[in-house]
Amino acid sequence: MKEVASPAVVRDLLSRNKLSCRKSLGQNFLIDSNIINKIIEAADLSAGDLVVEIGPGLGALTARIARSAGKVLAVEVDRGLLPLLAEVVEGAGDVEIIHGNALEIDFDNLVLIKTGGRFGRGSGQYKLVANLPYYITSPLLINILQERYNLSRMVVMVQSEVADRLGAAPGTKDYGVLSVIVQYFTDVKVLFRVPRTVFYPSPAVDSAVVRLILRPPLEPVQDEKTFFKVVRAAFGKRRKTLLNSLTDSGFGIEKEVWRAVLESSAIDPGRRGETLCLAEFARLTGCLREIQG
Ligand code: SAM
Repeated sequence: MKEVASPAVVRDLLSRNKLSCRKSLGQNFLIDSNIINKIIEAADLSAGDLVVEIGPGLGALTARIARSAGKVLAVEVDRGLLPLLAEVVEGAGDVEIIHGNALEIDFDNLVLIKTGGRFGRGSGQYKLVANLPYYITSPLLINILQERYNLSRMVVMVQSEVADRLGAAPGTKDYGVLSVIVQYFTDVKVLFRVPRTVFYPSPAVDSAVVRLILRPPLEPVQDEKTFFKVVRAAFGKRRKTLLNSLTDSGFGIEKEVWRAVLESSAIDPGRRGETLCLAEFARLTGCLREIQG
C-alpha cells in the first residue's frame, strides 16, 4: 500500500503513468492526510462494515477505508486510473475496484452480488464514503435516496455551497429541492469545512464534509413519487406564489382545484414554495391525493 496523500506523490504517480487530471470528471485529489483521518472518523468504521466508495481516484481515501472496514467496493469511472489504483490499494485490505458510472449503478444489486447476499436490499446495511466529483453530487444523492438503497450512513465531501443546501431550513436562500429530499430521508450534519488548498489540483471552490444518517422519514407520505413532484413544482418558479407555481407546473390541474387542495392543507396559497417545511409538503401531497380520489 502506498501513501498517496501528498502533492509530490500525486504529481509523480500521474506523470510516471503519463496521466493528467481530468477536470471534466471532477478529478481533484486529496493531499492532506488529516482530512482523510477526519472523514474516516466520521464514517465510524469497524471490521463488520461494507463500504461503497464513489470515485476512488488514486486511492488515498480507499486505502484508509480498507484499513478500518471489512470490505470496500470502489466505483471509478475513469478506466485509465484503474491500474494505478490497484497498485496503491494493494495490501491495504479487502478492496474490490469496479469500473463504472456511479449514476448508472444499482448499488443494492452490486453489493448483493459482491458480498454473496450479506449486504444490500433485504440484507445487511452498508455505508457510502466519498470525496464526490462535484458535477454529479445532486443527481447522485437524489438518486441514491429515492432508490432507498439499504444504507445506514453516507459521509461525503461536497462543494461548500452544496453542503449549505443539504442542511438548509425553510425560508432561507439555500433551501430547495435537494434540501427537502435529503432531509426527508436523512439526518444531515455538516461536519467541517475543507479549504481548496488540500486538493491537487486545487479547485475553484471550498468544500465541506457532510454526514447523512439514513432513517425512516419523519413525515412519511404514501405516495413518494407525487410528493417529490409537488416539491419540484413548488420550487419551480421562486418568484411566484405557491398557487401559481403549482398551477403552471405541468400537473395538469386547474388553479381552482389547487386552491382547494391548499385550503384543505391549511396552507396560504399566497406563500412562496420555498417557505414550506417538510410536514407541509407532506400534508399538501396527502390532500392532493384525497381530492384526486
Ligand atoms: N477519492 C479521490 C480522492 O479523494 O483523492 C478522488 C476524488 S475526485 C474529487 C472524484 C473522483 O470521482 C475521480 O477519481 C473521478 O474520476 C471519479 N468520478 C467522476 N465521475 C464519476 C462517476 N460518474 N462515477 C464514478 N466515479 C466518478
